[in-house]
Amino acid sequence: MFDRPVESLAGVGPKVAERLAKLGVRTVGDVLCLLPQRYEDRTALRPIGGLAAGEKALVEGVVELSETVYRRRRSLLCRLADGTGAITLRFFYFNKSVEQALARGQRVRCFGEVRVGPAGLEMVHPEHHAVRADDAEPDDRLTPVYPTTEGLHQQSLRRIVARALAMLERDSHDDHLAPLLASHALAGEAWPPLGVALEYLHSPPRDASTALLLSGLHPCSRRIALEELIAQRLSLRRSAANASHERARPLPAPTARLAAFRSSLPFELTRAQTAALDEIVADLGRSAPMNRLLQGDVGSGKTVVAAMAALVAAAAGCQTAVMAPTELLAEQHFASFERWLAPLGIEVAGLIGAQPARTRAATLAAVADGRAAVVVGTHALFQESVEFRQLALVIVDEQHRFGVEQRRRLKQKGTDDARVPHQLIMTATPIPRTLAMTAFADLDCSVIGELPPGRQPVQTVVLPEQRRAELVERVAAHCAAGQQAYWVCPLIEESELIDSSAASALHAELAEALPSARIGLIHGRMKSAEKDVVMRAFKSAKLDLLVATTVIEVGVDVPNATLMVVENAERMGLAQLHQLRGRVGRGSKASTCVLLYRAPLSELARQRLGVLRETNDGFAVAQKDLELRGSGEVLGTRQTGDAALRVADHIRDADLVPLVVELSERLLAAAPAAVESLIGRWIRGGIDYAKV
Ligand code: ADP
Ligand code: MG
Repeated sequence: MFDRPVESLAGVGPKVAERLAKLGVRTVGDVLCLLPQRYEDRTALRPIGGLAAGEKALVEGVVELSETVYRRRRSLLCRLADGTGAITLRFFYFNKSVEQALARGQRVRCFGEVRVGPAGLEMVHPEHHAVRADDAEPDDRLTPVYPTTEGLHQQSLRRIVARALAMLERDSHDDHLAPLLASHALAGEAWPPLGVALEYLHSPPRDASTALLLSGLHPCSRRIALEELIAQRLSLRRSAANASHERARPLPAPTARLAAFRSSLPFELTRAQTAALDEIVADLGRSAPMNRLLQGDVGSGKTVVAAMAALVAAAAGCQTAVMAPTELLAEQHFASFERWLAPLGIEVAGLIGAQPARTRAATLAAVADGRAAVVVGTHALFQESVEFRQLALVIVDEQHRFGVEQRRRLKQKGTDDARVPHQLIMTATPIPRTLAMTAFADLDCSVIGELPPGRQPVQTVVLPEQRRAELVERVAAHCAAGQQAYWVCPLIEESELIDSSAASALHAELAEALPSARIGLIHGRMKSAEKDVVMRAFKSAKLDLLVATTVIEVGVDVPNATLMVVENAERMGLAQLHQLRGRVGRGSKASTCVLLYRAPLSELARQRLGVLRETNDGFAVAQKDLELRGSGEVLGTRQTGDAALRVADHIRDADLVPLVVELSERLLAAAPAAVESLIGRWIRGGIDYAKV
């Protein structure tokens, strides 16, 4: 029943269906899952004499006076009295039938918001209807108010929902979870069946706690959220299962070469790195494609692990594509991979931004004939002209910046012989476990949960703009002592031109204030060769201070840079600030991050800066970020559009996750029809991440 089109409900024709579609409502199930935004209490008639401005109330009375007036705008004014008092009803849009319904002497019932008008209390455009003999009693349930769209009245929507509810009652086998929930309790009570929960949410009894309902914590709300989370997990697990029919090239572990690589590094891998590497190497050895998320806080050392994965592919005579979200980061990865892999005779190529035509042609040729075993690049890698000979591994850095579509296109490049490449996705946005179990249920996760030894936590200071002069002195002293610093000027305007010129102005200002410091400038409008020159100079300590826009946000690695100033920190998101801050604290010396803000701070900005001051832990920051922004925004492409949750909330409902996992697995094992039905009910367009 859930999957029937809305047109199967009486009174829903093509026109209404089209309007419902604007609300994302296409099936009867969608109607049922469109939960009210709030409720109105129309269960009791209120004496007009006792009304107060600001409240919404149901009143009934006789129209004592009704006239159309033409002051400023044509309007209909009525006076409604019930013996305890009188109130004005005011309409700006009305037709003949409204005038007739509200003619003098009519007995009407109205619901609307009471406000103070020029002549005492009034209601503007109240809902109203004539009182008939058979509706002596007001509703005994609360009235739902739905998110609606133009041309679709609340009243029509309510009628549609009521018809869907009636259909649901006749069709109780829609409740796939009922048999499984029989042995579970929610706060000591039995879980409400699906039909009961939906009925209650759409039409709560008069004494229901609307606050509880709207908070999403009512057992009936939770029942629906549970179902949605289960559907999300099922859909991703099914995708993963489908993907398990896909074949990838098994890449056996080159044990001796891996050991040689490790001993050539100037550091020991941490235990967490080793564990992640072991998981990756095991995956690569299988003929099922790897789909692994490598999570690790900024600076945890994901790149070297990725390079070792590329080494595994190269040892098997296969190619690896490494995708980075920005040119700067691609260049840095290119440098790292080349430094590590070239000595082992592995050719690393870069396809990064604008290159001279001849260089590019030569690189493309090396990729096409397989000489280049590793190719590092940005979006350039997706282009048609890039052909691989034997692509067996795709590494994506900072996945949230890449659309799902882009990843799919790159994956296709490996499918000449019906085999898909293994995928490794690296992210510094730690994903709380509960999210990993639902929104990321199709990916295996490896977590690098520790930083390399000797790292000092970054001390974070929040400073008002007024103390800028003091700060400039401090930067001067810092540079004079032979340490380096960043001064970051964040993206404020949507325009790179404006931001770049703001960075240039800051550069000029600091050059004047700090005559003895060597100051570089880097921004998004510079050519990559220019940026490269500046970055190299900064890396090799030929510059003391680097003024930059947020182009340095991800991945840039200069261990001797131990001070960072961020301008207008109040305008930036938590995750972005944490990423930026990760540019310092990369060596063994203590580092500081100064967040400069312009007063007044909004409440949200104050909380964000407070979180950063208090913790360096990326997981804690991510958790806070989720709480402050909601999971939709934090997860980016994965949660946008069709994949977004409708009822459940990853934070609020995190405690349901163990049950979500248990029930999903039981359904997968024993109830394939229910699995399909739940996915169809909740997941729009049956998004299939496996094909991504
Ligand atoms: P991220 O995880 O943020 O991408 P990187 O891979 O850029 O981190 O690593 C940060 C820095 O730490 C790099 O300079 C890298 O060479 C270094 N590094 C990686 N692993 C270790 C380790 N086990 N011990 C010491 N330094 C390491
Ligand atoms: Mg990185």
